[in-house]
Amino acid sequence: MIKLTFLGTSSSIPTASRNHPAILLSYANENILIDCGEGTQRQFRKAKLSTMKLTRLLITHWHGDHVLGIPGLLQTLALNNYKKTLCIYGPTGTKKFMHQLLNTFVFAGKINLNVQEVSGRFLETQDFFIEAKNMFHGPPTLAYNFVKKGQVRIDKKKLERAKLPNSPLIGRLKQGKDVIYKNKKYLAKNLVYTTQAKKISVILDTAFDSSIANFAKGADILVCASDFSHELKEKAKEYKHMTSKQCADIAKKAKVQKLVLTHLSQRYDKNPKVILDEARKEFKQSYLVNDLDVLRV
Ligand SMILES: [Zn+2]
Ligand SMILES: [Zn+2]
Repeated sequence: MIKLTFLGTSSSIPTASRNHPAILLSYANENILIDCGEGTQRQFRKAKLSTMKLTRLLITHWHGDHVLGIPGLLQTLALNNYKKTLCIYGPTGTKKFMHQLLNTFVFAGKINLNVQEVSGRFLETQDFFIEAKNMFHGPPTLAYNFVKKGQVRIDKKKLERAKLPNSPLIGRLKQGKDVIYKNKKYLAKNLVYTTQAKKISVILDTAFDSSIANFAKGADILVCASDFSHELKEKAKEYKHMTSKQCADIAKKAKVQKLVLTHLSQRYDKNPKVILDEARKEFKQSYLVNDLDVLRV
């Protein structure tokens, strides 16, 4: 099960109800924070989550609304004696920005960081991978996919019927290899099945581009920054952001299961429904998140 906690859902200026961008993706032993806007560590407290369980931080880009919470978060981790190495991934320039950021105040305590500038598939385990793609936002900006891979499992009932003993033969079947037992051939495809892969796409600040849909293709959840309604599409283009309709167009083209809109401008604070309704007209499975909302897939 992958759990997404939306810690902050505003855009560049926070409102009373929406904090700066931050999303926590939790899966197995991983707690991966995607962006860390100002005040994110307090959002953890409100959500009754612990920052001490963080394993990685993915940065989409270095606009203040996405990163101003990093120093405070690191300071707290250090004070709480965080023992892990926090892996920080981001676009070109991330190493320089991190260095500068850690040299702007007296940092109490120490924490181990592993900072990497990434693109493409940069992290892969047996169970999942994370990939990044450059967006169209001005400064170097990344979108991320988290993909839990489908797992090959043995069909226990079929295995019982086949009367194959529990032996290294099972391991071979799991690798998709056919096996021979007592002169009889057993085809792997008849005895194993693959669990469904799960994909989360997070596409925050960017101008619309038709190539984005390909990156989000088939996602179970597509999280998209929707800054403007379509009547302000010229403004969206100027500031290199997307309208709600453009997010929905991507969702439709990418054939995702669910579109989740976030990064809302304070302009829509009193009437966020404008953003949601516009997306729903294009793509029915559209949702708008509020701070501390949780989604599971
Ligand atoms: Zn932003
Ligand atoms: Zn931005």
